[in-house]
Amino acid sequence: MNARIFAKLTVSFMCLLIIAMTAVDFFAGRIAESNYIENLTRELNEKGRMIAVAERDDLQRLAADGSDARMVARIQALAREADARLTVIARDGRVLADSEADAALMENHANRPEVVSAIGGDWSSGIRLSPTMGVKFLYVAVPLPAGALRLAVPLSEIQQQVDGVRMKMLGATAVAFLPAIALAAFFARRISRRLASVIDYAGQLAKGNFRERLSGVDKGELGLLSKQLNDTAAHLQKAVEQLEREHAELEKLERVRKDFVINVSHELRTPLASIQGYTETLMDGALEDPRNNMRFLGIIRHNAERLARLTADLMTLSRIELKTQEFQFAVYRINESLESGLDTMRPIADKKNIHLKLAAETDVAVYCDSEALHQILSNLLDNAIKYTPVNGSITVGTGPIDDGRIEIFVQDTGIGIPPEDVPRLFERFYRVDKARSRELGGTGLGLSIVKHLVRAHGGEIQVRSESGRGSCFYFTLQVEPSGRPLEGEAVEMPA
Ligand code: ADP
Repeated sequence: MNARIFAKLTVSFMCLLIIAMTAVDFFAGRIAESNYIENLTRELNEKGRMIAVAERDDLQRLAADGSDARMVARIQALAREADARLTVIARDGRVLADSEADAALMENHANRPEVVSAIGGDWSSGIRLSPTMGVKFLYVAVPLPAGALRLAVPLSEIQQQVDGVRMKMLGATAVAFLPAIALAAFFARRISRRLASVIDYAGQLAKGNFRERLSGVDKGELGLLSKQLNDTAAHLQKAVEQLEREHAELEKLERVRKDFVINVSHELRTPLASIQGYTETLMDGALEDPRNNMRFLGIIRHNAERLARLTADLMTLSRIELKTQEFQFAVYRINESLESGLDTMRPIADKKNIHLKLAAETDVAVYCDSEALHQILSNLLDNAIKYTPVNGSITVGTGPIDDGRIEIFVQDTGIGIPPEDVPRLFERFYRVDKARSRELGGTGLGLSIVKHLVRAHGGEIQVRSESGRGSCFYFTLQVEPSGRPLEGEAVEMPA
């Protein structure tokens, strides 16, 4: 590729140089020729005038007596000196003497343009074919008192002189041609290498390789092209990476969706199978068995309640995730909200003799949906009670206000959570101990619902936990936007 471009460029450069040289040769030849003719015409004119003055007597005699051998010899001697053919012409156009031809045999010259001018008293010149000699001549005629003196030089002589000049010029141009060719080859190599790398790079782009970049981007059009190709590659690279990220994200979402469907069907199948099994057992006669019938009915009710909890949690989760859940934001006293949450859970906590405490020092106004906040607290407290052994304690309270947000925590003295489970705790259906969760009536969706509700309030939820020593779930809520102090203005917490 490189060699081909190099050859093409070099040949193009050479063609250009040859065209330029031919043009120079042609025009310079023409100029040299016309200059030469001009100079020669002037020279012949001067020579003619000098002969006319110097040889006045002889020329007078020639006009009066006609030509004789001595006169012809004289004319031939003068022609040699002048380095031109000489012709003496009478006023009526008769040729009186000629240095190269027999005057008696020559036709009348009265119609020759230069002779007409000279007889008229003016010198003149012209280039014509000589009928006597059969070649082209440059003629210059000057006036004589008794006619005209004409000097002629064959054009072939002029051509020889011009050709000599042209040959010298061609030689000089050829000498200049060699370094020009070397320079052209040097530039052709540079351009061809660069062009080949740009073409190569464009080929890489066409194949989808957008990671490489063209190095050594220089100035000029090729530099601009390289820069634009680099920019295009960078844009394409970015777009491809974005698509790859989106693709990975979609794949992840698809996996999550499939897992969810599998989990939901599994969670529903277990209680349904139990209900179906015990119902059939009762119908097959166990209903009449006083020892077992109430126990079986109890199991059926337990599983029906489990199904109800599961469907309720699933519906809540889907409403939040699909954003169809409408939140009624208002300003509430945080302490009142926390107390209300504790009161709701107190009967359950009492059964395990778990002590519920409120540790909120300053009362602030929070901006939230009261039902959502109630559900967040209920789920966290429900878990805390479930995973705290009898005689334990649970503290609900508020932390410091930071950047317009207050931290709310639910801390227990329960079984804690192993560190490896903490990162996945808020995933749907994730449970540290599946059997224990089921036994305690858990659905595995409580924390997922909490996380979505907190996020819908622009907050975040986190957990600190230590196996065997308890857990502390803490989340943030927005403090009332205007930051007003609470002076009984907040809306009452709904019952
Ligand atoms: P579940 O219905 O099983 O309680 P959650 O989503 O509410 O589902 O909780 C997920 C899991 O997180 C629970 O199964 C439990 O293993 C663990 N967990 C939640 N809260 C606590 C807590 N306060 N103490 C210990 N483990 C907890």
